[in-house]
Formats: sequence, C-alpha cells, structure tokens
Amino acid sequence: MIEREHHALAYIGLGSNLEAPRDQLERALSALASLPLSECVAHSSLYASAPIGPQDQPDFINAVAAIRTRLSPLALLDQLQALEQRHRRIRERHWGPRTLDLDLLWYAGLQQNTPRLTLPHPEMSRRRFVLEPLAEIAPTLSLDGETPLALAARLTDQTLSRLHD
Ligand code: AMP
Repeated sequence: MIEREHHALAYIGLGSNLEAPRDQLERALSALASLPLSECVAHSSLYASAPIGPQDQPDFINAVAAIRTRLSPLALLDQLQALEQRHRRIRERHWGPRTLDLDLLWYAGLQQNTPRLTLPHPEMSRRRFVLEPLAEIAPTLSLDGETPLALAARLTDQTLSRLHD
C-alpha cells in the first residue's frame, strides 16, 4: 500500500439507488470511517436526487464525506473500488447494476488527469447532488474559484431534496 508521510484531506461522493439505498449509504459511510490510514472527519446529510438519464429507476440517495488520509490518491481509489465491489451484490443471486457509486471528488487540491484518475472529479461541478452536500461540510472550498453553493445555484433544473434524519 502506498503510504504518504502527511495527511491529506479528501472529499468522496456517495450514491446508491438500490431498494434500500439509505442503508447502503449508512454502511458505506461506516466503511469509509474505517479505511486504513484514514479517518472520516465529516459527512453531509443524506439527499434524494432524481436519476440523470433513464427515469424508470428509483431516486438516488447521495451524500459527501470528508476524510483525512495518508493513502495516496490511487491507493485511496483502490480502497473505494474495493468497497464498491463489496456492495455490488444485490439480493438473491443476481449481480445487478452498480448499487454503490463512490467518486473521489477532490484530493488536497491536486489536479491530475490520468487514465485511472482525474482530479478534481470532472463531473462534480455539474452535479447538484454533489455540490449541495459538499457545501454542508466544505462551504468555502474553491472549485475553479467558485464555492459549491455558487455552482449549485446554476443547476436548479436538477431535482434534489435533503432527507430528514
Ligand atoms: P464510474 O462509472 O463513474 O464509477 O467510473 C469509474 C471509472 O472512472 C474507474 O475506471 C476510475 O478509474 C475512473 N475515474 C477517473 N477519475 C475518477 C475519480 N476522480 N473518482 C472515481 N473514479 C474515477
């Protein structure tokens, strides 16, 4: 495992539209908190968003988590992908479509574009279900000079609602 000397702050986007997506997200948040060399320092509320693309599927549940980690960006991506794999099996024996999506949104302000990893996540500034949860835990984060809420304000055509506890 590639290990760094100093902690880095990273933001992770979570999404699920399995039948019990809230449970799925709660379990994923606990799993993030126990990643090696890492601690979860904050997470947003849960949100419900209408699917982008085909509408004949349930709403997504989304959240964003902040972690402090000594994993390198790629080692962290490996961990996130392993976690996705563990959540991929749905009920019975079917292997369904992705039931948990984890995106590495932002890692210590790093900018890179490699085949496996683009940072910041290229879609994050266009997704209200990323920006509004992110605004809860990182209101002053600068994304191309703009805050998450300023970017989200332009995306009112995307439906999003914060869930109550
Ligand atoms: P997706 O369908 O969004 O889950 O895409 C997964 C693929 O995107 C994987 O092959 C990753 O290597 C790649 N990828 C590139 N940048 C990122 C990122 N910032 N976070 C997560 N996956 C990424």
